[in-house]
Amino acid sequence: MQTMGKLLLTLVTPVFIVVGLHCGIGMPDIDQRTDLLLHRSIITHSPLIPLILLLLALRIGFGLHAFAIGVSIGFAVHHAFDLFPTGWAGYALISIPFYGWTPPLFSWIWIAFTTLICAYLAARLVRGRLDRLWYLLGFIYIFILTVPKEGAWFGPVVALVVAVIVLARTVLFRRAQTEA
Ligand SMILES: [Zn+2]
Repeated sequence: MQTMGKLLLTLVTPVFIVVGLHCGIGMPDIDQRTDLLLHRSIITHSPLIPLILLLLALRIGFGLHAFAIGVSIGFAVHHAFDLFPTGWAGYALISIPFYGWTPPLFSWIWIAFTTLICAYLAARLVRGRLDRLWYLLGFIYIFILTVPKEGAWFGPVVALVVAVIVLARTVLFRRAQTEA
């Protein structure tokens, strides 16, 4: 029975990750659909939603775990693209409720920070060799799907590779050592 459960979990994990990826990639821009938030709001363009999901996943587990990995990767890739706008003005800037848009330097640092933290949150949920494979494939999959909708791709690739290398040397591999 336990083996059946494990097999089922192995089969559904990539499905939940893909669903999470598709939700996460567009989620930060829901600020555009509200009357309350200015675009690139610090509330949706932040690790807040992935963090809430991570905490829920750690409590509930199962499908939510894989879904949270997908959403967090989606957020990281979204922000990697937001890090390279055509210019640092207007909607490219991070906005704070009741304050307005923040200066370009703050916006850049905030978006870079969010990219790294969201990739980190996804890495925190990774357990085992197969999860690590899904983690890397998740980045590649959603990145390839997003490129045609965005202009620049080189900068986002560099940002994501740097983030994943930093995390591979810390979170991902350290966990691999404790598993061994
Ligand atoms: Zn955005």
